[in-house]
Amino acid sequence: MKRQIDVVGAGLSGLVAAINLARRGYDVRVLEKEEGIGGSPLHHPSAQGTCLRPAGLYEYIGVDLGEVVEPIRAITEVAAGRAIPVDISGITPYFFERGPRPASAESLLYELAREAGVEFEFSHPVLGQEQLALLPHGTIVATGFSYESFDALSVPYLTSHHIAQGSECDPGLNFVNVYHDDFTVDYGYMSAFHGIRYAHIFNRYRPVSSEGVAKFAQRVFEVEGVELDPEGWNHFTLPLPARLISNPRLFRSNKVLAGSLAGALDPLAFYGLHGALVSGKIASLAVEDKEVAWREFRRCNRLFASSWLMATAMSHTPARFRNAGFGFMFRNFRRLPWASNGLLMRMPGAYNCYRKL
Ligand SMILES: Cc1cc2nc3c(=O)[nH]c(=O)nc-3n(C[C@H](O)[C@H](O)[C@H](O)COP(=O)(O)OP(=O)(O)OC[C@H]3O[C@@H](n4cnc5c(N)ncnc54)[C@H](O)[C@@H]3O)c2cc1C
Repeated sequence: MKRQIDVVGAGLSGLVAAINLARRGYDVRVLEKEEGIGGSPLHHPSAQGTCLRPAGLYEYIGVDLGEVVEPIRAITEVAAGRAIPVDISGITPYFFERGPRPASAESLLYELAREAGVEFEFSHPVLGQEQLALLPHGTIVATGFSYESFDALSVPYLTSHHIAQGSECDPGLNFVNVYHDDFTVDYGYMSAFHGIRYAHIFNRYRPVSSEGVAKFAQRVFEVEGVELDPEGWNHFTLPLPARLISNPRLFRSNKVLAGSLAGALDPLAFYGLHGALVSGKIASLAVEDKEVAWREFRRCNRLFASSWLMATAMSHTPARFRNAGFGFMFRNFRRLPWASNGLLMRMPGAYNCYRKL
């Protein structure tokens, strides 16, 4: 008899885990809180970016995402108002559309999961300890930035503060501008892809002040000539798995964790796409062999602690030194291959991890 496995959450990591398990002959049921594929309408459709090396990643996760990812054409770092084009040849960044539209990453993964025989139950949130406890041992929990799962599984998090606005733009635009300044200890950015323009500032420690938002909007206007809508901002918070140096974890009570909940999120830049895809594959391995999966998980997260330390140190560095440091690094990226490599290796599932499984 085929074994039944439940996966909670039809996002990137949950879908990759489900596809891999179904292809290995398991009966897989995915329980998703929303009415359909594409995650929360509060955040999507959106354009998100991450660095990856396509062939190696697709082989590792067993899924070819070539149809839905596209190289990012230009990244500009704006440190205290000074725009520095980044040489991106060494970091191979790609755009993903997220959300319910047909060209999104989750739409492709959903189709592949259906083809592999995965069953879906939408409008089926799994909330709180009691509901989780009712699901069998080995259930994969892949609920992303969802407070209820962090709380139910006692996974430590910090509450990060976000302010964002999306609008339509010319579908031919393809760029990311990243803004470093004293309005946040982290960064703000403006991205444009697939006709979606998305402005977002986050701060892992406190809400961004209204003066900070106005300064960001002013910088965007100076650099891009785009006027952001002062009334158009959404404020939200997200749980980030970053309070502890030992954060990444694959198991909690008798469940397997994947994606953001597993800590597959870079503490420095908060890249989460890549880590989620890789951790979905690892979660599928954990169903059969916990030891092998744990070794793989540790291998793919081995620089987490140093990345966490760097992020913590940066947060306590005065803005003018941070800006000067970023400015130096991005102006010299081409001449400092160790800097780009060092950054990439810190991403969860960093692409030096790809190997044949
Ligand atoms: C605004 C925003 C911008 C971002 N930008 C970037 C970026 O540019 N680059 C990058 O690398 N990362 C980015 N991230 C992070 C990235 O989106 C996540 O790290 C990644 O999606 C995590 O994948 P996941 O599989 O853990 O969760 P998700 O892909 O988010 O999927 C979680 C799924 O679980 C469902 N769910 C939630 N709670 C429950 C429940 N209780 N029961 C059942 N189902 C539930 C959700 O509806 C969703 O479908 C961004 C995130 C946000 C919010």
